[in-house]
Amino acid sequence: MAIVVMRELREETSQDHAPGDALSRIEAMHAAMTDTSPHGLPGDETVCGKPTADMERVHYQSAGADVSWLPPSTSRWECPRCAEALQS
Ligand SMILES: [Zn+2]
Repeated sequence: MAIVVMRELREETSQDHAPGDALSRIEAMHAAMTDTSPHGLPGDETVCGKPTADMERVHYQSAGADVSWLPPSTSRWECPRCAEALQS
């Protein structure tokens, strides 16, 4: 199994955001383990226990164990519970 990065987005409730400006809608960045299928799809829940069904998969592969599990440009949205779980 591998870690995949999942992006939790806020609901779009108005015209506040410019189309395509996904960064402004990030609620949190979570980690999920892949399932055992050949495609390595994200499991049903994130590491912190949230459903992944409403989240967007981020195609990012961490460069190594000493590198952050999520893209550096999104580190300010890092889910603290996922981060803690991944460190243990
Ligand atoms: Zn999380």
